[in-house]
Amino acid sequence: MIRRQLGRLWRTTRRYKNRLGPRVVILLYHRITELPLDPWLISVSPCHFAEHLEILQQYNRPVRLQQVSEALRQKELPDRSVVITFDDGYADNLYNAKLLLERYDVPATFFLTTGNMRCEGEFWWDELERLLLHPGSLPDVLDLSIDGITHRWKLGEAAHYSEEAFRRYRCWRAWEDGPSLRHSLYSQLWELLHTLPGGERRRVMNDILRWAEAEPAVRPTHRPLSLEEAIALSQGELVEIGAHTVTHPVLSTLPVALQRDEIQRGKAKLEQMLGWQVTSFAYPHGSTSAETPAIVQEAKFACACSTTADTVTKASDPFRLPRVVAPNCDGRTFAKWLSGWLLR
Ligand SMILES: [Zn+2]
Repeated sequence: MIRRQLGRLWRTTRRYKNRLGPRVVILLYHRITELPLDPWLISVSPCHFAEHLEILQQYNRPVRLQQVSEALRQKELPDRSVVITFDDGYADNLYNAKLLLERYDVPATFFLTTGNMRCEGEFWWDELERLLLHPGSLPDVLDLSIDGITHRWKLGEAAHYSEEAFRRYRCWRAWEDGPSLRHSLYSQLWELLHTLPGGERRRVMNDILRWAEAEPAVRPTHRPLSLEEAIALSQGELVEIGAHTVTHPVLSTLPVALQRDEIQRGKAKLEQMLGWQVTSFAYPHGSTSAETPAIVQEAKFACACSTTADTVTKASDPFRLPRVVAPNCDGRTFAKWLSGWLLR
């Protein structure tokens, strides 16, 4: 009887301790800017980001990703700590994010994709948005050969997209049903393209550019970081540069050899550029196959971040660190949202 009561007490205590065990939140941002169109909701306004940093400084403990990775190895997590990370490598990371991080003295890790650093073009998902979701006219029929399969789309009335329709659908999100054939086409092409290897994806994007009779262009608002800007971003005590592959593939869809190539070449390019070792990695789209974490470990990374929405606990795997996407909201809402994660 006593034994059963003790067992229950122990289980309750363990649950209680587990609930209050140290938690770390790794925040995931992409862009600090304001855009007229943001179908993936990847931008946080500079004003909101400043408020987030103010909250972190006042009520939490902003720490570096490497501190968490090291603490996990020692099985000692710093409680109520928060890590800031950025994915992809947009120019606004340097001009908007870094400025604010310095103002509030908060560290951050920036995971950079190296394939777009020569200013040759926008990230492919931005290019697709530029071609399809802005006012103007497109040819009626699009024929594309992707992965050996021929696809045909007929736009009909949606071949013309008016200023008025653009304004009406400005708040459309890419995971919602498309309100017009243009939006449906965008979603279908995104689905088909995001799992292609980088070279094949570029070929299809060139076919789409030709069909749209558009020139390759880089909007100042959607510019990836150049090599020089990436170096400027890395300067100072607050910024760590991490790797995010070369072409931002869905790693789980690639054979092991191609995964290794993307992971190692991305790291080597950054190290050559910076002149020091790059030891943090983030999986593009959060995607991994059973082999990916081991490939990342072999490439001499110390930790890797996923996009699984959760907090880091002592039980977390340093090569599958969960992250939560930071919302574009004011400081008050952010504080409430963040404490929801820290007290789970
Ligand atoms: Zn990414």
